[in-house]
Amino acid sequence: MKEGFGEKKQPIMKMLVIGMVILIICLAVCVVLVSTLRSTYSDEISADFQAHHISSGEKLDATIRSGVEVVESAAGVMGSAAASYVNTQIYGVLNDYEHFSMLETLAFVGNDGNVYHHYRKYSASSLGEPLKELQDHMKTVNGTYTGVVMLSEDGMPYILIAVPVYYRDKSYGFLTATMKMEDIFEGGEFNYQNEMGECYLTDRNGIIMSRSSDAIFVSESSEDFCLSMLEYSDGKEESKRAVQALTNAYKENDTGFVSIKTRRAESLQISYYPLKSVPSLFFISCYNDNLVDDKVQPLLFRSVLSCIIIVVLMIAIIVYVWATSKRANITIEKLAYEDPVTKGKNINYFKEFASHIMAVFKETPFVIYRFDIVNFRYINEAYGHIRADEILTSCITNFASVFSEKELCIRMDSDQFLAILANDKEIGQRLERLAKNVNEDARGRGIKYPIRFKTGVYQIRKHDHDIDEMIDRANVARKTLKGDDSEMTAYYSEKIVQNMRKLDRIESDMQKALANGEFKVYMQPKWDIYLNRIAGAEALVRWVRDDGSISYPDEFVPIFENNGFIEKLDFYMLEMVCQKMHDMIEAGNTVYPVSVNQSRMLLHSADYVTNVKRIIEKYKLPENAIELEITESVFLDDRSNMIQIINQLKQCGVRLAMDDFGSGYSSLNMLKDVSFDTVKIDREFFAESVSTERSRWILQKIVELSSGIGMEVLCEGVETEEQVSILKALGCRMVQGFYFSKPLPEEEYIALYCGSNTMI
Ligand code: C2E
Ligand code: MG
Ligand code: MG
Repeated sequence: MKEGFGEKKQPIMKMLVIGMVILIICLAVCVVLVSTLRSTYSDEISADFQAHHISSGEKLDATIRSGVEVVESAAGVMGSAAASYVNTQIYGVLNDYEHFSMLETLAFVGNDGNVYHHYRKYSASSLGEPLKELQDHMKTVNGTYTGVVMLSEDGMPYILIAVPVYYRDKSYGFLTATMKMEDIFEGGEFNYQNEMGECYLTDRNGIIMSRSSDAIFVSESSEDFCLSMLEYSDGKEESKRAVQALTNAYKENDTGFVSIKTRRAESLQISYYPLKSVPSLFFISCYNDNLVDDKVQPLLFRSVLSCIIIVVLMIAIIVYVWATSKRANITIEKLAYEDPVTKGKNINYFKEFASHIMAVFKETPFVIYRFDIVNFRYINEAYGHIRADEILTSCITNFASVFSEKELCIRMDSDQFLAILANDKEIGQRLERLAKNVNEDARGRGIKYPIRFKTGVYQIRKHDHDIDEMIDRANVARKTLKGDDSEMTAYYSEKIVQNMRKLDRIESDMQKALANGEFKVYMQPKWDIYLNRIAGAEALVRWVRDDGSISYPDEFVPIFENNGFIEKLDFYMLEMVCQKMHDMIEAGNTVYPVSVNQSRMLLHSADYVTNVKRIIEKYKLPENAIELEITESVFLDDRSNMIQIINQLKQCGVRLAMDDFGSGYSSLNMLKDVSFDTVKIDREFFAESVSTERSRWILQKIVELSSGIGMEVLCEGVETEEQVSILKALGCRMVQGFYFSKPLPEEEYIALYCGSNTMI
């Protein structure tokens, strides 16, 4: 689940599918192109064929006509020979013209009833039927006759030419010649037709007179062209109409072109042309349209093959690019989703995982854990980066072994972790096991320091969708945990949010509030219980807003210490107090020493001592009129440096008080190393001290010890008369507390205690 929850479909499959689709489209385009090409090509061939057909027909006409012209010129010459009735002259003319190659035979049929041919004379009555018919016909016409005749000698058809012979307008008979039809298509002018298909000569009834030597469309045995075509056709109406058109063309003497579909689904293209030279003859040539396919198919095959090669090459390139880019993608994915230190996942992955897991397991209540290792900095410094990193890795690997597939833990950065967990009954046990395993691991690596986690928890609600917001909330909860070990886990709640809002408001208002003078000085008197009179005061800040609401230091001082604004506020308070004291001294009023609180943050500022000195000198206050209160916690940071700064402060003519003594890790060394003027015993410590004999004894010794080294002791938080009596008995002279006075607005304090012209 963790590895593959968002894995996308293999892109290679997609590419292959796309490749196949492209291939299919290419093939379809090819087929369309080629079929368009075929149809264009077919039309072009058809037009070309028809043009050739007519031209061949015309050439055939020209050939026959030249035969006729030979006979006509022979008839011209024959006139005088016939008129002389001299046989030798007649034979001579015949002999002269017989040699023209296109003429098969040449004969003179005289009106004398004789036929002259090849040096012989025959009686016309002995001749065959065709000649007799011709003789009869020639009697009725006086011009050239051309027709077809079937000669009984060889049973072959011939073109018959008959030209009347005149001499001085008197008819002497006619010359007759035959032209062979048998090999008529052997001439070069029929090459195109013969290569494409075959040629026929038919009479007007469709009876075949001659054909190309290798003609096959009409069988040898068949004589009727139209009938053969009808038999050869698929018998459909369209083909029948085509044959009919051909039959009509015979009658009408038309030139044209028809197409007949054959039984084998081929298309027979037929061109017809009526010869002008022999009115009874039709020249026909035809070809099978399949020959177009023969020419187009290799083209189609080459196109399809090219398409396949291109697409296959394309796919091969895509696969190659994909394979090389996959490696790059893995690296990119690693960078995008892997934490380089622990080799676990990172925040990007976590967000996607969390969204996915919440969508899949809708009914499971999930929680976001945002945690870090307590004092990890220490582990880093004490054991080195490598071992510290091993601990971080151990957290991730142990998590995977303890938690389920639908849970995930990642390292964000440094020692910051983030986890999404199923909030079931065993969650506590699982977390304990994780901590136990990590600690065992750490011990195994020689790290004795206990590994503990500070955790902010956010319980994901049903309508939550924004992962960033959930993580932020868990982090907000984590940030509420203090640096100490008092609390290790914090749960996000509305109260936290309210506090955050409050914090936001304080931070956004603080600058303006300082400029507007909303930070007011309150004074709490310090009391000398031996003399039972005021002995000084502590200045305490109050934030009095325009609407009259008052905020106490506990609400904003820690915030200002965090954001650095405390420096401005503390110097402001110091300046306000000094200014007021200066004004009062000038006015001749009574003034008592005033102590001003100084945050430990101030002591880290480089020019802190200089600034204090400047203010004290600016208002020319008597020495020791101002006491600076510094909490003992300041020595936790940088002891020797702090001691140095405090000694420098003493040179500025101020008293120094250690505030809240006994509230933290108080040490006697502090009293020894730093010459404070006053020790202020913390209110809590004091309250506890007076309750038992043992603590009271400790307090007494602190008072004695401090007095012994010349320090004044002041007890804070004195609230009862009984406490006053105890302190008196312990030898503590100075006290501060509600028993004597609460912190008062400065004017009230002045009015109450600083009336007469009394100096400190
Ligand atoms: P602190 O310096 O120890 O001041 C004494 C605190 O004890 C004051 O609280 C005072 O009102 C309270 N207190 C005095 N007598 C009694 C008593 O009899 N009973 C009880 N319950 N409380 C008593 P406050 O004014 O709320 O100040 C709290 C703390 O805020 C101060 O503790 C001090 O650490 C800090 N603080 C106050 N003003 C400033 C300031 O101007 N700058 C800085 N940096 N811190 C300040
Ligand atoms: Mg104080
Ligand atoms: Mg105090």
